[in-house]
Amino acid sequence: MSRALSTRLCEVCEVRPAIARCRICGRWVCSKHVGKDGVCSVCRDLMCQVCGRKLAVDACVVCGRLVCREDSVELQPGIRVCRFCWARLDSIIEENPEFSYLRRYLQGRRAGLGTSQGQRR
Ligand SMILES: [Zn+2]
Ligand SMILES: [Zn+2]
Ligand SMILES: [Zn+2]
Ligand SMILES: [Zn+2]
Repeated sequence: MSRALSTRLCEVCEVRPAIARCRICGRWVCSKHVGKDGVCSVCRDLMCQVCGRKLAVDACVVCGRLVCREDSVELQPGIRVCRFCWARLDSIIEENPEFSYLRRYLQGRRAGLGTSQGQRR
């Protein structure tokens, strides 16, 4: 039969009835595809893997973690590292020569970290 409009289906699996609405994207989702925090599984996949609360804007070029603006440092447009990698970038570069190109961004950025990141939206 055709889908009854009165029964909203989960927009992720399109099988189970939706019981909640994702607070981030507004998708209707079933109990399987929404977390306790009201975030759907799709958004969770796009979520910052450091804080788990904000949408990621990019992936760390070193570890590949998805990171939001606040948990990462943008060394260069398109080159972003998470705060964990940032904290130990020196040793990462030493151990992994393939990241030595990051070294040149290091000096300039290190001074401003924490203070110059304060711009709102
Ligand atoms: Zn579902
Ligand atoms: Zn969502
Ligand atoms: Zn974050
Ligand atoms: Zn990282």
